[in-house]
Amino acid sequence: MNEEYINIIKKNINNIKNSLPDEVLLVAAAKTRSVDEVKASIQAGIKILGYNYIQEAEQIKKEIQDSVQWHMIGHLQTNKVKKAIILFDMIETLDSLKLAREINKLCAKSGKVMPVLVEINSGKESNKTGILPGDVENLIQQINNLPFIKIQGLMTMGPRFGNPEDARPYFRVTKEIFEHIKKKSIPNVEMRYLSMGMSNSYKIAITEGANIVRIGTQLFGTRNY
Ligand SMILES: *Cc1c(COP(=O)(O)O)cnc(C)c1O
Repeated sequence: MNEEYINIIKKNINNIKNSLPDEVLLVAAAKTRSVDEVKASIQAGIKILGYNYIQEAEQIKKEIQDSVQWHMIGHLQTNKVKKAIILFDMIETLDSLKLAREINKLCAKSGKVMPVLVEINSGKESNKTGILPGDVENLIQQINNLPFIKIQGLMTMGPRFGNPEDARPYFRVTKEIFEHIKKKSIPNVEMRYLSMGMSNSYKIAITEGANIVRIGTQLFGTRNY
């Protein structure tokens, strides 16, 4: 890994960090990045790493000694929960009762309480993961009593490409649900984090209320896939 590239990563991160309001957390979406790239990002001040796949997170985590936070940002299958609860400090992609029950069951064994965000399919796209906007409250009402899960907010993807303005309605819908749930003051449910926005849309997401942004390309450069 050449030094020039490391410096580019560091510069990118500084630029983005400087442009974010203080209360907004930056998750480095690190899929496909090498250990060196991830280490460079940590040197530049990244405190939260986001991963989409268990196996990749596991491999990279072995090489990282720094105390950073690990967020699961990809779709989580029930049969991967056992590893996920060991690897991650937060699961941003909770989207079913079945998954919630499995996380709760396995966390109970180790006494760990897992912070989770409920993932919303804000575009109601059939090929996307996440729960439909109309089903969110019902899901939360069904899982708020699981003692080893701590609901801390919502997450959404929205469209990844195209005009970033096109993502705004998706973010707005998610923020509306966030405020709606917050007003209900459901026991054991905290509406604290709203995770939305990626490289092309994070600025818009912040104006719509995001306080977690997940950024890959703008930190590390274009991915090779
Ligand atoms: C890859 C990814 C991101 C970041 O995407 P970029 O366009 O590279 O910034 C954010 N969130 C999720 C869930 C991702 O998979």
